[in-house]
This record gives sequence, C-alpha cells and structure tokens, in this order.
Amino acid sequence: MRRIRLRLRGIVQGVGFRPFVYSLAKRLRLAGYVLNSSAGLIAEAEGDPAALDAFVKALTAEAPPLAWVQEMEVSDLVFLGEEEFVIRPSVAETGEFALISPDVGTCDECIRDSTDPAGRRLGYAFTNCTNCGPRYTIIRDIPYDRPSTTMARFRMCAACQREYDDPGDRRFHAQPNACAACGPSLSAGIAEAQRRLANGEILAIKGLGGFHLACDARNEGAVGRLRDRKRRSDKPFALMARDLAAVEAICTVSEEDRRALLSPRRPIVILPGREDAGLPAAIAPGNRTLGVMLPYTPLHHLLLGDGSRPGTLVMTSGNLSEEPIVVSNQEALERLGGVADWFLLHDRDIYMRVDDSVVRTFEGAERVMRRSRSYAPQVMDLGRDVPELLASGGELKNTFCLTKGRHAILSQHIGDMENYETLVFFEETLANLKKLFRVEPRAVAHDLHPHYLSTKYALELGLPAVGVQHHHAHVASCMVENGLAGEVIGVAFDGTGYGTDGAIWGGEFLVAGYAGFERRAHLRYVALAGGDAAVREPWRSGLSYLMDTFGPGVAFEAAPEPRVRVVRQMIQKNVSTVPTSSCGRLFDAVASIVGLRQQVTFEGQAAIELEAVALEGETGCYPFGVDEGTAWQVDFRPAIERIAREVEEGRPRAGMAAKFHNTVAAAIVETCLRIRGETKLDRVCLSGGTFQNLKLLGRTVAGLRRLGFEVFLHAKVPPNDGGIALGQAAVAAEQLRRG
Ligand code: ZN
Ligand code: ZN
Ligand code: FE
Repeated sequence: MRRIRLRLRGIVQGVGFRPFVYSLAKRLRLAGYVLNSSAGLIAEAEGDPAALDAFVKALTAEAPPLAWVQEMEVSDLVFLGEEEFVIRPSVAETGEFALISPDVGTCDECIRDSTDPAGRRLGYAFTNCTNCGPRYTIIRDIPYDRPSTTMARFRMCAACQREYDDPGDRRFHAQPNACAACGPSLSAGIAEAQRRLANGEILAIKGLGGFHLACDARNEGAVGRLRDRKRRSDKPFALMARDLAAVEAICTVSEEDRRALLSPRRPIVILPGREDAGLPAAIAPGNRTLGVMLPYTPLHHLLLGDGSRPGTLVMTSGNLSEEPIVVSNQEALERLGGVADWFLLHDRDIYMRVDDSVVRTFEGAERVMRRSRSYAPQVMDLGRDVPELLASGGELKNTFCLTKGRHAILSQHIGDMENYETLVFFEETLANLKKLFRVEPRAVAHDLHPHYLSTKYALELGLPAVGVQHHHAHVASCMVENGLAGEVIGVAFDGTGYGTDGAIWGGEFLVAGYAGFERRAHLRYVALAGGDAAVREPWRSGLSYLMDTFGPGVAFEAAPEPRVRVVRQMIQKNVSTVPTSSCGRLFDAVASIVGLRQQVTFEGQAAIELEAVALEGETGCYPFGVDEGTAWQVDFRPAIERIAREVEEGRPRAGMAAKFHNTVAAAIVETCLRIRGETKLDRVCLSGGTFQNLKLLGRTVAGLRRLGFEVFLHAKVPPNDGGIALGQAAVAAEQLRRG
C-alpha cells in the first residue's frame, strides 16, 4: 500500500475538477482527500499501487473538458490506512495563486434545463453548472469559492444546496449555482423584451461582462436610430443570431468558422456577408464582412429561443462612442439613458468588465482580433521564469500584461486609452489581476510614445522602466505566442508606432530577437501633415504621396481647394509634419487617390474598404523599388505613378485596389528575400494591424512560403495593438535578465 500527494496547477478550479477527482478515487477504491488551494488543486490518495498509477494517469487523460492541467507534482507520503475519500474545504496558501478560468458559454445540458417544461429551471436566465457559466466576470478573489464571487449575497435554496453538495451532481460545487427561488432575477420578463425588440425598440440588456445595446437587426429604422444615438462613427455593429442556420442566412460559414462560432467561448466571428442577407447597410457600412456570435448565456438563449422574432439582433457593446462597456445597473441608467428605449436589468453584479471577443479564421485556425470575454485571463507561456513585470501596452485597443513565474497574463481588451473612463477601467482591471494572480511588479515596460496615457501611467509608477519600441513589441508578441527564440525577420505593418528616430513608423522590417532589434528596411518616409487630422483625413496622405511622386505642384481635387492649399504648404515647408513610414497611411493614400474615401471615422476604415472593393482573382502588380542604404527604403512611388495614371484613364477601382494589395505583398516578399540574402534568416513573423487584412495576409504568406520562408502568424493574441503588451513584457524580461 502507498500514499501519494498531488499538486495540480493550471485551470483546475471552477471546472468540475474536484468531483472528477472524487469519483475517480471512488472508482479506483482509493482513500484520501481533494481540495482547492489558492495555488490550484491538492489531493492525497492511498491504496493499491496499481490503482494509484491509474489514478495519476487518468487525472490528465480524463480531465473535465474545461480543465487544463499545466503542471502536476507527485510525491510519496507515509501510508495512513484511511477508509474514505473526501472533499475538503478550500485553503489559502500565502503568496500562491491559481489560474482563473475565463467565462464559459452555456452548455447544452444547461440550455436543456432552462427550456425543460418539467424541470425546476424552466425559463431561468441564470442557469449554469460546473461546465459552464460566469467565472472571471464574477470572481473577486481566490480560492474560487462562492463567498469570493458576486454570488455571495444569494443564499442557495435547499434544492440548489443539495446539488451543490452532491459529488454525483453536475452542479457539485458550481459556485454560481442558482434557481428562480434563490438566485439572481431579471427586472422584467423575457416575453416583454421580445415584444419590444419586435416593435423596433432599442434595449439595453445586462449580460455577462457588461451591457449590450440590442435591436432587431432587420429593422432599418431601429439600426439607424441606434447608430445615431450611440455616436459610434462607422464601426460595424456585432450581431447575435439564434442558431447556425440564422448565421448561414446572412453569412458564408466555413467549417472552421462553424467551429469558432460553436466553441464554448462563443466569440464574435468575422464572416463574409451574403449578398442576399437583406440586412440594413448601417450595420456595417462599407464592409463586406459581418461580425456574428451565437447566444452564450441562458438569457440570450431564452431571448432568441424557439422561433421568436426577431431571430437576429444587433448586440453592440453598451457604451457611448469609445468609452468602456457599462456594467452596473446605475451606470447603465445614467449613461445609456439617451440611447436605450428600455432596460432589461438583473441583480447579479458584474465584477470585471469584459467585452465580447472577436475572432476570424485563416488557414483553418481561429485568430483572435479582440481578446476579451472567455479568453482572458487565460495565461500564456513565456517559456521560462521571469521577474514580476507590468507591460502597459499601447494607446489604441489597449491591453496590458502582467508576468508571474513563466506565465504572461494578458488583460482583456481595455480599449482606446483616450479618455478618463478608459484609464479608470485600465486601473481597476490592473488592480484586480494583480490581486487574483498575486503579482507585485518590480519593473514596468511601456511604449516609446511619450504622449500615450499608457506610457505616462507606466512612468509615474516609479519602478525601473523599460521603453520598448512599438514594432519590436509587435514582433516579440508574435515570437512569444509561437514559442520562438533567437532572431527572426519581423515584418510589422500598422497605422502608427513611435520610432526611435522620432518619426511615425508603421511599415517596418526588423531583424529582431527579444533582446533587441535592427531596423533593416521600412517604407519610404512621406510627410504626415497635421498629426491626428492626417489619420481622420486620408486625402492628406493621398496628397502627400502624390507630391512625393510628382512634385509639389501636383494637381489634387479630392478635398476643397483652400484646405488642400494649407496642407500643401505644410508639407512643402515642413511645418506641423512628421515623417512616416506607416503602411496604414499608404493604404489611406491609395483609397484617396482612387476616389474611394477621403475621410474616416476610425483608424483603418479606408484600408478595410479598399480590401472590400478589391477584385478577386486579379494577379497584376504595380512596380515598386527597394533603395538600399543604411536602412533600406521600400519605394512605392512607381506604384503611385501607375495608379494615378489608371485613375485618369478611368480604370475600375476594383482592379486597382486588388493590384495594390498584390504590390504590398510583393514588396514584403522582395524585401524579406533581400534581408535573407544578408542575414541567412528564414523565419518571418508577420504582425501589426495591417495584417488583419486577409487579402494582404493571404498573398504575403503564399509569396513567402513559395520562396521557402517559414512564416509565423498570430492566433492567440491580436496582430493589432491589442497584442503589444505581451511583446513588451517579453522584451523587458530579456533586457532585465541581461542587466
Ligand atoms: Zn452547464
Ligand atoms: Zn435555488
Ligand atoms: Fe501597432
């Protein structure tokens, strides 16, 4: 006879692990105990050695679906001769931490429970079990037990308590377990909400990680009103469809898209919209794609259930323009009062604000574009232990990153750090993650841009600070998630990133490792006139590129003459301009020159539209140059010259847009080829928001592979600035290690 002690780390709490261990031990006739600690899961078991071996094997092989065993330590103890296997109360170990499960979409059994006419949870909007339901959004502290969640104030009724106490029950130790008799409740009936939606009203609906603003997606008036009231620029609205068939009625859904839609994480999946979808254009202006998700809480299932109308809803974040998503009832009534006609509230508090996550699929894999609900705070592996750090991220689409041991803890999507409310959200999330993971940062990593709120925040902490160049951080984030070491060719293409020379970078070819980088090539600098205004007005980039190509007197009619005159002088005299190699501005310039778009309401809009209009199957390409100097400049003037001529000839925009995409891809491939010639490096990391453009990404990847490059892309973290905090953390860790 033997006795062993097991320590498990990973996602082993809130996922039904203890009852799994309990029933496994019973099956194998072992005695001992299992408990949750703040460090994970601890078990001791004794009995027949063969049974103990089987026990240890089964712990990983048969673990519950949501569990993730990252580490298991087994040690021998003295045999005690116990008779029973029991579940013991949780213990807190000082300084230790456990991984927190992200929130999980409602499981099939719970959907059945909430629609079973004979069951006691019929129509209950807060049904959950150990396999599904809220986690990160309701957890205040670890170990994960009911008193440390926002469910603490609801006392379980006798029936719920029996489930909770029964190791054979699906709800054994399901911390948010509840029913209509004892748990949270809605402020009004589902039927009334459905009736109001059908009548074209805009509803503010309290959800899992915050409020949604919802309306009937097929009601043009309602969608238009929502867009007006929300003051949301032209950013697309997300949709929630009743089921897969409802998604397929509006989008083309591939096999991997289907998998992404149906995963328990239930993200918003970006899908090609169908021509015959029959939805109002105001849902996603100028866009050929739609962002769609399936219901992920019992409330959603009930709201969209069973042939009710409408079967497809706009479900956009409950916030005003770029502010954080609203979470409390009071906040909703105050802030969303001018947008919503009616409120569907409930009384389970949301502790952590979490937006819906956004993914798209490429080459058979799910790729995260906005990492938030059901993804955060899942950790990523840094490959080795690093000091405890904070990386404060960028400005747009901010996330931050903490490190602990070998884990990188990337926060959920915080948003654009341009207002006070978003900074507050940043701080409250940081405080919470520091507490949950027991992190006390010893140093801080930040972007080089001196005016970013995230930079200022980092520098005010008074900790040793490591500035990490924006595109270096992009490349490093791609290396981390692909487990790469050494040096790679990093291609970081995006809208804006502060360069080490004070210019705005964004079309960068780096030879990079975690320790540092060398800028080998970049897009030829053009003058960016007027800072932020240049981002809002693509015509300024158009004028700048045309002046660079044809000289200062080039004809330009895409904007009113008095304004053109001013900007022309700014560029000529170098007043209020900054040189930029931004690929985002190159896309803006081409969108302007082909007459597609002169003004935008959000970063990236012109590029999205240029991608949307590009002709399928076009293989033509424009000329470009690579001027080899100290840092090579990739010169698009030959392409701009040809595009301007084709515009004069009245050529169709679709062909020009497609050829332009091909040209950018060809320029990337050609430049990588030349860098390989000098460095012998053949691993390429593609990062930066520009690579959210699948036409460009597809062409680039194909071109690189054809020449024998090994290409690494993002999947777990966004290619956009939502990923740079991870890269900052990895770079800072390496620099600190080297002193
Ligand atoms: Zn469930
Ligand atoms: Zn109950
Ligand atoms: Fe960026």
